[in-house]
Amino acid sequence: MEKKIWLSSPHLSGHELQYIVEAIQTNWVAPLGPNVDEFEQVLARYHQVQDAAVLSSGTAALHLALIILGVKTGDEVIASSLTFSATINPIIYQCAHPILVESEPRTWNMSPDWLETAIKARIKRGKKPKAIIPVHVYGMPSKMEEIMEIANYYQIPVIEDAAEALGSRYNGQALGSIGAIGVLSFNGNKIITTSGGGALLSNDKKSTAKARFLSTQARDPAPHYQHTSIGYNYRMSNITAGIGLGQMEVIDQRVVQRRKNQLFYRELFSGIPGISFQEEPDDRFFSNYWLTAITVDDRQTGGITCEMLRKAFAAENIESRPLWKPMHLQPIFRKYPFYGDGTSERLFRKGQCLPSGSNLTDEDRLRIAGVINRLFDRKEICHTAIPSQNTESLK
Ligand SMILES: *Cc1c(COP(=O)(O)O)cnc(C)c1O
Repeated sequence: MEKKIWLSSPHLSGHELQYIVEAIQTNWVAPLGPNVDEFEQVLARYHQVQDAAVLSSGTAALHLALIILGVKTGDEVIASSLTFSATINPIIYQCAHPILVESEPRTWNMSPDWLETAIKARIKRGKKPKAIIPVHVYGMPSKMEEIMEIANYYQIPVIEDAAEALGSRYNGQALGSIGAIGVLSFNGNKIITTSGGGALLSNDKKSTAKARFLSTQARDPAPHYQHTSIGYNYRMSNITAGIGLGQMEVIDQRVVQRRKNQLFYRELFSGIPGISFQEEPDDRFFSNYWLTAITVDDRQTGGITCEMLRKAFAAENIESRPLWKPMHLQPIFRKYPFYGDGTSERLFRKGQCLPSGSNLTDEDRLRIAGVINRLFDRKEICHTAIPSQNTESLK
């Protein structure tokens, strides 16, 4: 069996070890230390926000964001349905109710129209939602102008789930810096990784200070252990933060590499009817293309489905994956209200995420192209297997 090609695997810069060794040599191995401080500064600068608090995971950051915004038992929180379950789980941790909202067909992210429909309907039932969580799925910016306009009109704070979108921009602004709070993830399969970790971004330093306080067991200032609130053990360690510093040195390169993958797939699938890409609607949208994702319309591909694509890849030891199964279709979340028209369900039925690691090699691309050319029976255009030479610079 040939070597496995992963959907998205860690891609180290080579400098991570230096930071880790230094942390160990100086005995800063606890969840505090110079790497933690510096990683927070680097992230705040990169996103042009006032402050960043680094945490044990993106899920922890989402959980603390809800607590900081005062989400409590019985409250309602609006979120995109087309996402990973980690967007929704923290709402349940707070004993609050998720209200799930449909995607719109271009970005695949939260539809502003359905968002407004959902807000109006919930207010009519007597409860104004406490927060809105748009998710920038696969790195694609949500329609933030429209979403922020609605959120501001109804005065509901926005938590951007930018777990997949580090390096993406909307109107030149880094994702995660637009809402009241932004959330990042450094899980192993994300565009950069610390092996596991997350961050909470905000322009309100009270929010990030509260995140630091809650994530370190909510210790009140006193010589003894004194508590007036429930705490969490959610802080990032100084060793982990060192990996993050090594990774942030190459974030811009990683974005270029992921965007090149997307161009490679566009070239590879060009001329095949029935294949559509998740795409930037106009030049306000700049995706990191964490994952390149397509839909396959089997009425136009001569019967080839996305599941056939997945199996053809799997037979060659190449990982690909269906789109997120929308949360309103998940057995555990089915009982919660959903406002939509079937867009995300259609995307799920037809969609596939393609191998998108920033460390794909020319050889990997040849194997991937081979699978596609065989599946679509395209002997004559095997030259598309030649990796794209396109050198795209950052906007
Ligand atoms: C990965 C991810 C998370 C959770 O991040 P972790 O660091 O794995 O806890 C949350 N939301 C989305 C959309 C994600 O992709």
